[in-house]
Amino acid sequence: MKLILLGAPGAGKGTQGIIISDKYSIPIISTGDMLRAAIREGTELGLHAKSLIDKGALVPDAVIMAMLKERLQKSDCSNGFILDGVPRTINQAEALAEITEIDKVLEIHVPDEFIIDRITNRIVCPKCGASYNAVSKRPREEGICDRCGSKLEARADDNKETLLERLSVYHKMTEPLKDFYADQGKLVVIDGTESVDDVTVKVLETLRG
Ligand code: AMP
Repeated sequence: MKLILLGAPGAGKGTQGIIISDKYSIPIISTGDMLRAAIREGTELGLHAKSLIDKGALVPDAVIMAMLKERLQKSDCSNGFILDGVPRTINQAEALAEITEIDKVLEIHVPDEFIIDRITNRIVCPKCGASYNAVSKRPREEGICDRCGSKLEARADDNKETLLERLSVYHKMTEPLKDFYADQGKLVVIDGTESVDDVTVKVLETLRG
């Protein structure tokens, strides 16, 4: 299965992606996680990406697609994959179509007013991508990832000012992908405002159907 998860920042793409990844034994590929890893490693890509990410702007399509193309060639992608946070522009979606054919696109729909609280209280695992919420979804041990035991941290771009810019970029640049994939009969939209478990039930039903 080759799946794209669409949705605003904080819609739950990463959380549901991990569940789907475990269930179907296919990797979740997050370009945001790849860029943050490059920043931590201090690579040239990381240095270039950091200033854009910190402002909530997009990294150029060509940079993203070169990184994604290389990742999709790895052997763990041979039975499928889940894309989280990519494509984010029509250009990226067109470039992706040249590389591979996507089976399904799942939009986890959450209106902006729900997002602010989720994101400003979010803490994430830099190693496995799991995310927690300091109020509503705390890890079992304070500051430690339940899944892999790594130290949790807040993302530098999860502040209110950057988030508002990320949401605006999402509506302008990424939402048009809904029509792009709906026209191909690949889009399914689910309500992401319910509890994680309730959303998971719907996600798995959709993938079975
Ligand atoms: P995310 O972890 O998906 O929220 O991504 C964090 C930031 O990384 C975004 O706000 C962008 O600056 C950058 N980024 C991640 N994926 C992409 C992409 N597909 N295209 C452009 N920029 C991206």
